[in-house]
Amino acid sequence: MTENADLTSVLDRAAQGGRITAEEALELYRRAPLHALGQAADAARRRRYAGTEHIATYIIERNINYTNACVTACKFCAFYAAPKSDRVWTRDLDDILRRCAETVELGGTQIMFQGGHHPDYGVEYYERHFSAIKKAYPELVIHSLGASEVEHMARISGVSAEEAIRRIHAAGLDSFAGAGAELLPRRARTAIAPLKESGERWLEIMELAHGLGVESTSTMLMGTGETNAERIEHLRMIRDVQDRTGGFRAFIPYTYQPENNTLKGRTQATVFEYLRLIAVARLFLDNVAHIQGSWLTVGKDAGQLTLHYGADDLGSVMLEENVVSSAGARHRSNLTELLHLIRAAGRVPAQRSTTYEHLVVNEDPADDPEEGRVVSHLSSTALDGGSAHPGLKLVDAG
Ligand code: SF4
Repeated sequence: MTENADLTSVLDRAAQGGRITAEEALELYRRAPLHALGQAADAARRRRYAGTEHIATYIIERNINYTNACVTACKFCAFYAAPKSDRVWTRDLDDILRRCAETVELGGTQIMFQGGHHPDYGVEYYERHFSAIKKAYPELVIHSLGASEVEHMARISGVSAEEAIRRIHAAGLDSFAGAGAELLPRRARTAIAPLKESGERWLEIMELAHGLGVESTSTMLMGTGETNAERIEHLRMIRDVQDRTGGFRAFIPYTYQPENNTLKGRTQATVFEYLRLIAVARLFLDNVAHIQGSWLTVGKDAGQLTLHYGADDLGSVMLEENVVSSAGARHRSNLTELLHLIRAAGRVPAQRSTTYEHLVVNEDPADDPEEGRVVSHLSSTALDGGSAHPGLKLVDAG
């Protein structure tokens, strides 16, 4: 495919819901004019959400980091500490439950339990914590972890991945957040996360989870030096599994942050690369319902633009986040601003559940909640002032 007419015909086909090949997706990613690409992706989004195409969703949630101890030492990560390092910390269950209480108080509906691969944390650790959280806060959805954590906890406990999934699901895990996907193709993955399971194994575990009734989102880390072909190959690997399981609810690309990690920011994805990827994902992943723009890593302006490039969801007001913030992501927001960002993009904001039902459609700005305490990073430790919001009786973030 070398002529612009060919690109146009592929864009038209994809915009109308037709399937495109990985080779065509790569050509679009490399060569399609940016506006034409965005227009086609937006048409595909509108087509999929006919009747509610004027809406863009968000969620209120909290990441709860239970430990930074990790044996996996990914080169892009600024969050972890080697298990014997004096930088290691862990949060006890009482602390975690206080964070859950605060999430509920602020209208949050979801928690992402997120941490390192602690050398002692097997399936039992997650069972204990998930069942305690569910007992105390049954209304909170536990949307957490991913195939990497499953592989690690199963190894520590000496059980199969299937048993690990069954047990943590029974204890309260509702769905997997799809953490640890990073980049799935072999060369790109080994370059940044040599001690993680392979991309094939990551997908195998997610497929297993979907078969056991535990759905997930899927993610992608952009900007660590991967090639364009590897980016599209990552999408192809996800689409192939999705054809069999239908268990990926969403695709969420986000960008590598350059501070405090072994890769030292030698490479980064540009905003244009990010927008192109969002658009190609909408066109190529014809079997994944939701595409999320990550204002947290690319910034609020670029996040807002993703809504014109095929994204239907702008992520969350994340009450706490320490992982990408440790690596230099300093964008912060709050509920009022997120509603404004969505409206200024010409869309009606709707607070969603983990499963993407609209909980509140914020049709009229006059009816917007006056809850000034729903701010991102309110007790994050990775950003200055993260625990200093005056209106909250915050848990000790130290
Ligand atoms: S990304 Fe996760 S697995 Fe990798 S070093 Fe960081 S905490 Fe550990």
